[in-house]
Parts: sequence; structure tokens; C-alpha cells
Amino acid sequence: MSEEKKACDLCSLTVEISGFTLKLKNGEQKVFCCEGCKGIYQMLNEDQILTK
Ligand SMILES: [Zn+2]
Repeated sequence: MSEEKKACDLCSLTVEISGFTLKLKNGEQKVFCCEGCKGIYQMLNEDQILTK
């Protein structure tokens, strides 16, 4: 069993810590390496992000 590491959807760095994710309205899930990347992506794609 190998755990596949994902790449940050903003800066493409390997995601070492999980938990920085966003769900899009189209069902896609985006992962980020840090709170900063998540925040920026959220700002740039506000209309596509599924908000609770
Ligand atoms: Zn990043």
C-alpha cells in the first residue's frame, strides 16, 4: 500500500499536510499545501466554490 501524495492545486508543491481542501460546485475537490494557497484559490475562484 503506497500513499499517493497530491500536488497543490495552486503552486504544485507536494501536499504534505492534508486538510487544506476545497469542494467545487462541479464536485471536484481541490487540495492545497497550506492555508495561504487555499485562501488565494478561494479568492480567485469564489464563484466556483461550494460554500456550506
Ligand atoms: Zn501551495
